[in-house]
Amino acid sequence: MARGRRLISLKSLFTPAPPEDAAHGAADKKQRVLVRPDDLFHPLSKSPIREMREKGLLIRGNGSCATCVDETSAKGRVATREPEFECPDCGYPTHCSEGHWAQDTGHREELCGFLREANEDEHDLRSGRTLREFEFPSAQLAEVVVNLSNWDSYLYTRSFMNVTSSRAMRHVSKVLTYPVTIGATLHQYSPFTLKAGLTPEGLKSMTALRTTIKEHDMARSEKELVMQQMPLRVFVLGARAEAMLPPHLYLQLAYLLPNSPIHIYFVGPECIPTAEATRSTIVVSSRLALKYHKSYFHDAIWNFAPFDPFTDVFFLFSPGIGHPEARAGWQPTVEKLLETKCAVFATGFHERDMCSDVAALTEDFGDKMDWLLQPRENPFASKKRDFGIRNLREWAISNWGIYGIRGKRYEVQSK
Ligand SMILES: [Zn+2]
Ligand SMILES: [Zn+2]
Repeated sequence: MARGRRLISLKSLFTPAPPEDAAHGAADKKQRVLVRPDDLFHPLSKSPIREMREKGLLIRGNGSCATCVDETSAKGRVATREPEFECPDCGYPTHCSEGHWAQDTGHREELCGFLREANEDEHDLRSGRTLREFEFPSAQLAEVVVNLSNWDSYLYTRSFMNVTSSRAMRHVSKVLTYPVTIGATLHQYSPFTLKAGLTPEGLKSMTALRTTIKEHDMARSEKELVMQQMPLRVFVLGARAEAMLPPHLYLQLAYLLPNSPIHIYFVGPECIPTAEATRSTIVVSSRLALKYHKSYFHDAIWNFAPFDPFTDVFFLFSPGIGHPEARAGWQPTVEKLLETKCAVFATGFHERDMCSDVAALTEDFGDKMDWLLQPRENPFASKKRDFGIRNLREWAISNWGIYGIRGKRYEVQSK
């Protein structure tokens, strides 16, 4: 489940559905509420929301019965029947029959509760209610210090007034995990310190980047200095869902580094949904621009070279470098990344995923790289679990863990 595992289109959550009958005019401005907040649980086949019924059909058509899989894989050949039976507790089509459902204690003990939560969360997102938790705060007052220890302290010190339940927290963390993970890594009050995973080499790299951020801070009132500034360049490679987010979400990164001009480059074959466009730029604010390059980084590298460890940093969100199908494809990119001597941060969607990426990197590039951040859990991971259509036992948490590397033989030079 390395690629294409993000099941819900993030963009669809922010695009209001067209009114069912435009002739009603003004009356349609009030959105119709399809499910009430106290009545969010519905078996997928009986959901009042079409998208959820379709999801149920998709799982039935492509999924597997866990008990069938267990019984047949013990005999050496995996075979499964269609999961026609819907678990009454989570509402997902999980097994081929009630009998096979009853046999699967693992489902009820380990999985069912999380699936139930996902069922209610997805109904809530599509309920038609006004999603106030997605009304985000704007720029921070200079005298208020952001606390980047964890989601709670971040949301509190950034005045997210409408995130008042754990469900709202799950919704918001799922989309903000990308900009805030970047911001928390770069920020001077980063949770990644020498006491928390950062290596001495990591400190050197972060000091270089923070020197630039400090220069931006000092230049904020001097127009001429502002003109001369080099922007921070954040490269997001292998970009998929994170490139599809509404651009304004990345303002939350800009607010964390309020005086820095930031260019985010989304690079990857899947970073633009349309087939025709290969590159584009969206200017979000006077200091933030998003740039999209539909190609592999190692093919497009001359668009971005030269690189400077003081201004440039790379993020790879759940790249799946250790996945057998993706490993060879990532090798030329990692090779180039290490040559830039810039900091590279990567995430994984659970412990096994991250360990397999780290093992592959160590095996393929161990003698060419230094560790900047030891692999560890990310305090700004999504709080939501996503489940695979084909196998509900496969789940993923966006940016569950994080680590950092950089090409060897690097010395910070004073500018
Ligand atoms: Zn079965
Ligand atoms: Zn269940």
